[in-house]
Amino acid sequence: MAASSNCEIVLLRGIEDSDGYPCERASTTQCSDCGSQICDVHTEECDLCGDSFCASCYYSHMTEPHAKPVLPERVQPKRERSA
Ligand SMILES: [Zn+2]
Ligand SMILES: [Zn+2]
Ligand SMILES: [Zn+2]
Repeated sequence: MAASSNCEIVLLRGIEDSDGYPCERASTTQCSDCGSQICDVHTEECDLCGDSFCASCYYSHMTEPHAKPVLPERVQPKRERSA
Protein backbone atom coordinates (compact mmCIF):
# COMPACT_ATOMS: atom_id res chain seq x y z
CA MET A 1 0.00 0.00 0.00
CA ALA A 2 1.81 3.07 -1.22
CA ALA A 3 1.31 6.16 0.83
CA SER A 4 -0.42 8.39 -1.60
CA SER A 5 -0.14 12.02 -0.80
CA ASN A 6 -2.23 13.16 -3.70
CA CYS A 7 -5.87 14.05 -3.64
CA GLU A 8 -7.91 11.00 -4.52
CA ILE A 9 -10.92 12.90 -5.75
CA VAL A 10 -11.75 11.92 -9.31
CA LEU A 11 -13.03 14.71 -11.45
CA LEU A 12 -15.29 14.23 -14.40
CA ARG A 13 -14.91 16.38 -17.45
CA GLY A 14 -18.44 15.84 -18.56
CA ILE A 15 -21.42 13.52 -18.48
CA GLU A 16 -19.87 11.35 -21.18
CA ASP A 17 -16.61 11.02 -19.31
CA SER A 18 -17.06 7.90 -17.28
CA ASP A 19 -13.47 7.54 -16.17
CA GLY A 20 -12.61 11.06 -15.17
CA TYR A 21 -9.18 12.10 -14.00
CA PRO A 22 -7.69 12.41 -10.56
CA CYS A 23 -7.35 15.81 -8.98
CA GLU A 24 -3.68 15.17 -8.15
CA ARG A 25 -3.28 18.15 -5.91
CA ALA A 26 -1.26 17.47 -2.81
CA SER A 27 -3.60 16.16 -0.19
CA THR A 28 -3.88 18.15 2.97
CA THR A 29 -6.13 15.88 4.93
CA GLN A 30 -8.06 12.67 4.89
CA CYS A 31 -11.76 12.13 4.69
CA SER A 32 -12.97 11.16 8.12
CA ASP A 33 -15.48 8.83 6.61
CA CYS A 34 -13.98 6.97 3.65
CA GLY A 35 -10.34 7.79 4.38
CA SER A 36 -9.60 9.23 0.94
CA GLN A 37 -6.76 11.68 0.68
CA ILE A 38 -8.24 15.06 -0.10
CA CYS A 39 -6.72 18.39 -1.01
CA ASP A 40 -7.87 21.64 0.49
CA VAL A 41 -10.22 22.49 -2.37
CA HIS A 42 -11.95 19.14 -2.01
CA THR A 43 -12.20 19.21 1.75
CA GLU A 44 -15.57 19.91 3.23
CA GLU A 45 -15.40 20.68 6.89
CA CYS A 46 -18.37 19.98 9.06
CA ASP A 47 -19.25 23.04 11.10
CA LEU A 48 -20.92 20.93 13.71
CA CYS A 49 -18.23 18.42 14.57
CA GLY A 50 -15.20 19.88 12.79
CA ASP A 51 -14.39 16.73 10.86
CA SER A 52 -13.13 16.87 7.29
CA PHE A 53 -14.82 14.98 4.52
CA CYS A 54 -14.75 14.57 0.79
CA ALA A 55 -17.78 16.02 -0.96
CA SER A 56 -19.83 12.86 -1.16
CA CYS A 57 -19.13 11.82 2.41
CA TYR A 58 -19.84 15.34 3.60
CA TYR A 59 -23.17 15.18 1.90
CA SER A 60 -24.09 11.93 3.55
CA HIS A 61 -22.60 13.14 6.82
CA MET A 62 -24.93 16.12 6.78
CA THR A 63 -27.91 14.06 5.77
CA GLU A 64 -27.33 11.29 8.27
CA PRO A 65 -25.72 12.09 11.65
CA HIS A 66 -26.69 15.76 11.72
CA ALA A 67 -29.98 15.58 9.92
CA LYS A 68 -31.87 14.22 12.84
CA PRO A 69 -31.76 16.23 16.00
CA VAL A 70 -30.77 13.94 18.78
CA LEU A 71 -33.89 13.50 20.77
CA PRO A 72 -34.34 11.21 23.68
CA GLU A 73 -36.74 8.60 22.67
CA ARG A 74 -40.01 9.43 24.20
CA VAL A 75 -42.12 6.44 24.56
CA GLN A 76 -45.41 7.22 26.06
CA PRO A 77 -47.38 4.11 26.54
CA LYS A 78 -50.87 4.95 25.59
CA ARG A 79 -53.49 2.99 27.25
CA GLU A 80 -56.57 3.32 25.27
CA ARG A 81 -59.49 1.97 27.03
CA SER A 82 -62.17 0.97 24.74
CA ALA A 83 -65.38 0.71 26.55
ZN1 LIG B 1 -15.05 10.46 1.86
ZN1 LIG C 1 -8.49 17.60 -4.91
ZN1 LIG D 1 -20.36 16.61 11.60
